[in-house]
Amino acid sequence: MRDAGERLVEIALPLPLFQTFTYAVEEGTLQNPVALGSRVVVPFRNRRQTGICVGESESGSNTRKAKAVLESPDAAPAVGPAVLELCRWMAAYYIVPLGLALRTVLPAMLTAPDRPHPPRKTQRVVSVSADLPSLLQREEMFARSPRQRSLFELLESLGGRSTVEQLGAKLGFSASVLDGLRKRGLIQVLDEVVERDPFASRGGLTPERQKPTPAQEKAIDVMARAAAGEVFLLHGITGSGKTLVYIELLRHIVDERGQTAIVLVPEIALTPQTVDRFRAAFGDRIAVLHSALSDGERYDAWLGLRRGDKRIVVGARSAVFAPLEKLGAIIVDEEHESSYKQGETPRYHAREVAIVRARAEGAITVLGSATPSLESWANAESGKFTLLRLPDRVGGGKLPAVEVVDLRGRVKDETGKAAGATDYGAVIREPLDRALAECLARGEQTILLLNRRGYSAFAQCIDCGEVSVCPNCSITLTIHRGPERLVCHYCLHKEDVRADCTRCGGRNLRQRGLGTQQVERLLSERFPAARIARMDFDTTSGKWAHTRILDRVGSGEIDILLGTQMIAKGLDFPNVTLVGVVDADVGINLPDFRASERSFQLLSQVAGRAGRGAKGGRVLIQTRLPNHHAVRHAVAHDYHAFVKEEMAGRVIPAYPPTVRLANIVFSGLSEDATARFAIGGAAWLRELLDTRNENGVAIVGPAPCPIERIKNRWRWHVLLKAANPGDLTRVGRYFLERFEIPQKADLRLTLDRDPVALL
Ligand code: ADP
Ligand code: ZN
Repeated sequence: MRDAGERLVEIALPLPLFQTFTYAVEEGTLQNPVALGSRVVVPFRNRRQTGICVGESESGSNTRKAKAVLESPDAAPAVGPAVLELCRWMAAYYIVPLGLALRTVLPAMLTAPDRPHPPRKTQRVVSVSADLPSLLQREEMFARSPRQRSLFELLESLGGRSTVEQLGAKLGFSASVLDGLRKRGLIQVLDEVVERDPFASRGGLTPERQKPTPAQEKAIDVMARAAAGEVFLLHGITGSGKTLVYIELLRHIVDERGQTAIVLVPEIALTPQTVDRFRAAFGDRIAVLHSALSDGERYDAWLGLRRGDKRIVVGARSAVFAPLEKLGAIIVDEEHESSYKQGETPRYHAREVAIVRARAEGAITVLGSATPSLESWANAESGKFTLLRLPDRVGGGKLPAVEVVDLRGRVKDETGKAAGATDYGAVIREPLDRALAECLARGEQTILLLNRRGYSAFAQCIDCGEVSVCPNCSITLTIHRGPERLVCHYCLHKEDVRADCTRCGGRNLRQRGLGTQQVERLLSERFPAARIARMDFDTTSGKWAHTRILDRVGSGEIDILLGTQMIAKGLDFPNVTLVGVVDADVGINLPDFRASERSFQLLSQVAGRAGRGAKGGRVLIQTRLPNHHAVRHAVAHDYHAFVKEEMAGRVIPAYPPTVRLANIVFSGLSEDATARFAIGGAAWLRELLDTRNENGVAIVGPAPCPIERIKNRWRWHVLLKAANPGDLTRVGRYFLERFEIPQKADLRLTLDRDPVALL
């Protein structure tokens, strides 16, 4: 029997188990009250775990003695009621344990099991005491200590306050001089918490306020008068001024109504210009959750939001969980971007979470894009979302003319010989070469896209056709230079480039397919005076590397910016008058239902970087597939025609938005065991659908995933399709909770709801 009056609480722990755990709260033993959303440290299987209180449990319902909560580190709950509700929704919809959903919404520093009290950064601050000595007293006091006197007067001139660090390092005062003043009671020295704000040093923003155009005004006006929970799809072509619409809407929501707002961007490092504009407009009321922040900086930003010091957050997908109260709006910029989907459990889509959260809190959602996802477009057509349009570029600018350069023909060199596939003339065809030369001659800038990093795509033996493949993944190895190596882009495996074929021993290995490194080399040979910057995964490993490259483009120190999809988004440089796509076909034929949509979006977005200033601009797209609908409609800037054609292709076989998907991936270390695991799982699911009359759910598979092996794990999948999302939730949950995973070959199961790719 338990003591009457003992309080029991339910704790969600970050474990892959679909349950919560009961613990006892022994009043008087804990430093802080345990309430809904409070963090607690509890003993679990002889370890300490940090969990979240998610409710009270019935006293007496549990006859086993519950263990006691060990610590309750926070004075106020870490998870507010609204975010807790959001986690419950996420756990139900994405079919993940509540504890894992909760871990996702908190900064890492708050979920570490062994350090419940995150360290804060402090500095020693010196301030002068209240009663200042008069001039006469000073003469006497400081008669034998002129150093003390000058330090004291310096402090006064600094407004009575400074830091020990500054006085010591910058101004050269020693600790003993400070100590002398302190002993005389003239100054105090205290430790103060400092906010870690890495943007403090970026500065240099001029908050030049632009006046909205009539089209922008209209969109702002409609949204400012929206009903609680309304969702807007802002379809604005590239350069139509969506950012200003967001900013003016937020002035209304934050400044006039006193509410708060969340702004999501696909990847914060890639959009320093957008971030700068928000910082210029809202100053220190804004918290920027940059991916380069340390855990401590991230925690400080989170605290600032939780306390209400910061009213707006700008960040990538996880910013959707920001601890803001009185939420007025969530903006999802470039809503079609796949980086809004998290690749690991919980596999949430920030756009969906944004809508659910905004609705629950009576806020509006604004989804902005020049190339909306087909899902959002369908929702706008059905009336679920309100469509707003910015059909023109700001200031009457025109979208750049786009020309196709057909790569199918052979190129001959000066002597009439056919050029090799990696000769400059074959890589950058004559029209693009001429445009580049002209652009350079005019002193204007070029953006060149090639969505493949590395030097060559792969190495192939010309005797037997063998291609070098990663030993851990079913992926060809990419050739990198500096130093020359074969690299796997999935698991980062590296090996030396071999001189002979592993299969036939032949010594004729040929490198095929271009990467950004090779194009950079070819360009620098062709235009030795041009200042070329390459921006891809390999050149952006440092914390602020992206920003540094883009700042150089902005200040005119770069003539040609060459890069992968990183350079396609959001950049607004008026002196860029030429955009070239070196090979539009990379990725267009991937075995994935979204390959065409991705290609269309990428081509449209990169084309939109050209001609944003008064000088206008042109775009040249090199392709072997000029008739592919993704290419054709991007060339014509015709989003609607693309959507119409692509939508028709998603009906039979049915893919989103015609149906909803859940992709169940079976993986393991043995090929054979994984296949049997998947076949068994599919049979189990088919029987489940039969016996429970789940007619709304269809099964496709099992089949090996298009990428059969990643990081040593074999992969199979089964696709569930349903018109009604509730059917998928029910079937998925039943399956994940009851289907038994055999204990061998490290077999694992994941369910990806609304997948963005099926590779
Ligand atoms: P989008 O995100 O829709 O591609 P941006 O928000 O980057 O477009 O705006 C494109 C350019 O137009 C930016 O340089 C921006 O400063 C400018 N701009 C936007 N609105 C206005 C306005 N009302 N008046 C003047 N310039 C504007
Ligand atoms: Zn690999």
